[in-house]
Amino acid sequence: MSCPTPISAAILADYWLAALTEAEEQATEEHLFACDECGARLREIIALAEEVRRVARAGSLRMVVNDSILQRAANEGLHVREYAPPPGGAVQCTVTAEDDFLIARLAANLSGAKRVDLSLCNEDGVEHLRLPDIPFHAAAPAILYQESIPWAKAMPSNHLLVRMIAFDATDREHLLGEYHFHHTRSLPGPGSPP
Ligand SMILES: [Zn+2]
Repeated sequence: MSCPTPISAAILADYWLAALTEAEEQATEEHLFACDECGARLREIIALAEEVRRVARAGSLRMVVNDSILQRAANEGLHVREYAPPPGGAVQCTVTAEDDFLIARLAANLSGAKRVDLSLCNEDGVEHLRLPDIPFHAAAPAILYQESIPWAKAMPSNHLLVRMIAFDATDREHLLGEYHFHHTRSLPGPGSPP
């Protein structure tokens, strides 16, 4: 049995968000009461919306991600902002209110590494945070570092230096790359340019 007058996905989404007028809401409710098919579609829409929220929440973590996570976020309609400074180079960066993910694509030759650390430093090279033993593939051309998006949105203009450090089979440290991020705050608030 197929519903002769299916409720549109937009109406179902608005129904779930309680964004319909009272008359529309009542009509939708009456239809859903009698129609299992539209009820099943409503459940799908709710599940999709929850998946989008779950993926969006992942943007608040400071972590190493991969291209398939970013592709999934983009498929969900989320906005991924990405910077790819060359090893030893610098990039001008910012973050806007619309961004859901903030990614640094750190190109490096990982082939000889047994373990890789990311060292987050201030502009003088003083480490303030280290992500030890991050996940990586020796054949991958880059590490994708995700900065916490709420943290980045609250950040004043600053200069971040990221060092990628590899440990070889004899536990010796090697600097794989240095990447400079000249962050300009574009959101209003403390630390924004005058
Ligand atoms: Zn129906």
